[in-house]
Amino acid sequence: MKQTALLSSIDRDAVVRAIGDVESACSGEIRVHIEPNCHGREVRFAAERTFERLGMTKTALRNGVLIFIAAKEQQFVVIGDQGIHDRVGSAFWEDVAGKMTGAFRQGEFTRGVVDAIHQIGESLARHYLHAGVADVDELTNDISMGESEPQP
Ligand code: CA
Ligand code: CA
Repeated sequence: MKQTALLSSIDRDAVVRAIGDVESACSGEIRVHIEPNCHGREVRFAAERTFERLGMTKTALRNGVLIFIAAKEQQFVVIGDQGIHDRVGSAFWEDVAGKMTGAFRQGEFTRGVVDAIHQIGESLARHYLHAGVADVDELTNDISMGESEPQP
């Protein structure tokens, strides 16, 4: 699938709103990244690189979660930073990614992403209480887009 097709299929406002809702109930941070083409790199490797590049290891409580969408490869990787990962484990991320795969197969791109955000949010809210007025939006809620050409 082309980057533009996926972008036009995903309701960006709905995604940003879902992240905002979730982050108003916990101190965790969720980001969504769409990579048009991994150019033969392993998707998980590309996701891990993106996780670092987006500064997701720099939250105070190490509770950032990245939803990585490899558009051409039609694969999803969900990565949680050390703090939240230690609490939920790999099986949880795989479950979220698996459900997203199901929704995407039905062409339900926005629902797939929004449901994943809520599922992650429930887990974050169990482990990381919102810090009230002191809570900071440490990472932007906007969708991040990869380059369509390979990085040098
Ligand atoms: Ca926050
Ligand atoms: Ca945020």
